[in-house]
Formats: sequence, C-alpha cells, structure tokens
Amino acid sequence: MSTAQLANLVAGDWRSAADGRWLEVRNPADQREVVAEVPSMGAADVATVYESSAAAAREWAATSPITRGRVLLKAAELLRENANEIATDLTREMGKTLAEARGEVGKTADFFEYYGALGRAHQGELLADERPGVRAWTVREPVGVVLAICPWNDPILTPARKLAPALIVGNSVILKPASYTPVVSLRLAGALASAGLPAGVLNTVTGSGRDIGDALIDNPALAAVSFTGSNEVGAALKRSLAGGSVKLLAELGGKNAAVVLADADLDLATATIATAAFAQAGQRCTATSRVVVERAVLDETMERLVARAGGLVLGPGLDPATTMGPLVSPEQKEGVEGFVERARSDGAELLAGHDPIEDERLAEGCFVRPVVLAAEPSMEIWREEVFGPVISMVAVDDVDEAIAVVNDSPYGLAASVFTSGLANATRFIDRVATGQVSVNLPTSGWDVHMPFGGFKGSGSGAKEQGIEGLDFYTRTKTVALGL
Ligand code: NAP
Repeated sequence: MSTAQLANLVAGDWRSAADGRWLEVRNPADQREVVAEVPSMGAADVATVYESSAAAAREWAATSPITRGRVLLKAAELLRENANEIATDLTREMGKTLAEARGEVGKTADFFEYYGALGRAHQGELLADERPGVRAWTVREPVGVVLAICPWNDPILTPARKLAPALIVGNSVILKPASYTPVVSLRLAGALASAGLPAGVLNTVTGSGRDIGDALIDNPALAAVSFTGSNEVGAALKRSLAGGSVKLLAELGGKNAAVVLADADLDLATATIATAAFAQAGQRCTATSRVVVERAVLDETMERLVARAGGLVLGPGLDPATTMGPLVSPEQKEGVEGFVERARSDGAELLAGHDPIEDERLAEGCFVRPVVLAAEPSMEIWREEVFGPVISMVAVDDVDEAIAVVNDSPYGLAASVFTSGLANATRFIDRVATGQVSVNLPTSGWDVHMPFGGFKGSGSGAKEQGIEGLDFYTRTKTVALGL
C-alpha cells in the first residue's frame, strides 16, 4: 500500500512544499509503519503563507462574530461526525489509546462549540462618562496574524485550544504542528475549511521547527505567538521576540504533584493518581509525576500504586485490550529510560517498572513499562520534567511540609491533595503555587471553559481556555463619542 501524502492548507488550497521535500510520520507502536508523509515546508513557503494570512486577517476581522461563530460550530459538528476516523489517525501517529484519542477529539469539538457560541456574547463594555452627551465604550479587536506552535502530546486538542479563541475574535492563524504528529492538525484544518472558513484565515505549515523557526517568527505581519511546548523552545522564542511588539503566550512544562494525607480515602487517591500519571503514557503536561505522602500511609500508598502500575496492559493504542500505549518516539523512550537509570544511580529505589518487554508484538514500538520510584526531593527525577509514565514518591510529616515540598519546584502547573479534612484542603488551595489546584481529583482534566495555564516556569502567565482565553488574542480599544 502506498503511503498517503498529505498537503498543507495554504490560501484555501492544499499545497506541498515548493521544493518538493516531505517528512515521514511513523507509528510509535511499530516504527516500521509510515503513517503518512507531510510537506517539509521551507522559508519560501512560510513567506507565501504570511502573505495569505495578512490579507485574510483584514476580511475576517470585518466579518460578523455571529458568522464567525457559525463556522466554528459547523467545524465542531464535522469533527464529531468524523470522530472515529480522526481518532484512529491520532492513535496511529501519536500512540495514545483509541479511547484516549476519542476523548481528545470530543474535547476538540467542545472548544469549537464553546468559542463558537461566544460569537453571540457581548463584544465590549459600555463605560460611564461624566461629560454630557458623551458615550464611551470598549471594543475587543483582533490582534491580526497569530502563529500557533503546538506540541505532539495532544496534537488536535492543543491547536483547538488556540484556534477557537483566536478565530472567534477575528484573527487569522498560522498553525505549526509538531513534526511527530501533523496528520490530525491537517484533518482539523480540513474540518474548518469544509465548515466554510474563508481562504487564508487558517494556513498550516508542516516542517521541522528547528529549520523554519526563524522564518516563522521573523515576519512583519506577525502579531502574536501562542506556543505550547518545552521550556527550552519557549525560552528561545522569548529571547527572539524580546524588545519587539509581538505578543507571546507560552504554556510550558510541569512537574505536577499529588499529595496524599493520612486522612485520605486511599482507594480514591491511588486510583486517581495512577490514572493522572499513566494515561497517555504520562505524556500530558498536567500528568502527576510527584507523589508526596504523609508518612503514616506511605507503605500502603506505595503498595497500591505499584499494584495499579502492574495492572496496566501495554500495547498498541488501536488494540481495545490496551490500557497504556507507547511513547511517541524512540527519542522520547530513550529520554525516559535515561531519567530512570540516572534516578537509580542517584539512589532512588525502583518499586515498579523498567524491566525488559518480552512481548514480540511490541518489539518495534516505543514502549516502556510504568515506573514507580521512592525518591528524595534533591534528585533530578524529582526536580525535572520526565514527560513519561514515571511516578516518584517522597514522605512528609504533615500538610505544611507537603505544601513546602510541592512549592519547591521551578514549575507551577497543577497540584492536587487527597484528604477528607476541610482545613487541610483549604490550606492547600490557599498556599500552593500552581495555576490549577484540585482536591480529591486528578491534576489533569480541566474543561474548555476553565481558565488554564501555569505559574512560575510553567508558562508566561496568560491563561488559555474560558473567557480569559480571549484576552491574549485581542486588544482593547477604548472609544469616546461626543455628539
Ligand atoms: P517542543 O520540542 O518544544 O516542540 C513544540 C513545538 O515547537 C513543535 O511544533 C516544534 O516543532 C516547535 N519548535 C521546535 N523548535 C522550534 C524553533 N526553534 N522555533 C519554533 N518552533 C520550534 O515540545 P514537545 O516535545 O513537542 O512537547 C512536549 C513539551 O510540551 C513538554 O515539556 C510539555 O510539558 C509541554 N506541554 C505543555 C503544555 C501546557 O499547557 N503547559 C501542554 C502540552 C505540552 P518540531 O516538532 O518540528 O520540532
């Protein structure tokens, strides 16, 4: 069977790279399988994209928000209609289970429904003015051309989190998907084009970020960059854009902690933590990776988490029996294994995982077993983001020590506490320095209308999602009208 060659949406047409180069997308469950080829765009292609985006931004900004909303709502409908096919592509290119992929496609549609409906919401505010006969108000205007750079772990959801708010307020968007997982971004572009999005309002650019990064951010038409990805690339973007007028939103890494206090329901706590840690093989920015346990329940919590890790069924995401898929790539697998090996030489105790995988079926895939480690707060495994199915545990004496340990991190994305005590819960909520905090619930799983974004090294501070998610994509014009 010949490999599908997919094209980029540029100015309303489907185009390959000007110089005819292609990128291969491989299946993480079996690296021998090429899922598709996508264009490897170069600087000349990026220049063409900007011309189209700049022209389309003017027309789209002048379109009624109600009309814009209808396009987004129609796109949501098309995504739901084609959910099975898109979810299958998602599993084949990223590796997550089909159930996880279906959930991601559903939430993608939620984003377009939520922001599509906001086309009918108020677009500004009437202001008081002391001067007789004067009317004053604010208008939210689009910023212009937005560049959305996305990672591979939620390859259709993350673009939706950026596209839906950017488009409803009238911006044009250039979408740069991650090179491991561009296929479903192109499917998303297809849904928006079929829903009636005018030519050029969304353009896609596939190709290596390292190679085309400069061309992507060095264009006079660029107004804002919405980036989700690693701290390293986020910091490079910040340096490159410093001193200019291009806005930057950055959603970066996490080192999310769950605290288990002695008065917790341990069944609930360990089941919830295991799901938050091992779903998508731990490749979620909000995955739980640190577990802080009150000493009295340490042994029991460890035993239960080890049992949960051992109960997961490793396999290809398309197999209905699988409960944990592979990592996205050989590089990611090597990175995760390196973290675990260094943790052991630092003195961490391996409680589960890291043993060889004997199943022949999995030999060509990027599989690792879920890992549970007993660690110390000074260790690399406790401090740095692994982005894989690895839990590290430390013991503390009380809730105050737990809060101090959670906050002793360069990251501040999400944290949770398991307790039956209201005083413990409110103390944790008030003092923990993370953008998301939950009680008796996972660190992951924040709905489309809930503002989402990290503190400290986990992001630029701007929130995505919800009404607050519109702020980054708009500028406020204040108007006074005297008659
Ligand atoms: P990454 O390596 O930073 O890549 C992210 C995107 O940036 C990709 O599209 C990549 O393109 C592109 N890129 C790479 N170099 C670039 C450059 N010089 N200029 C412009 N773009 C460039 O991150 P990742 O490995 O895909 O994603 C994992 C990271 O994302 C983790 O740290 C995770 O915590 C974080 N994340 C954060 C959130 C959040 O909301 N806080 C959500 C999800 C993920 P190529 O693929 O072509 O290299």
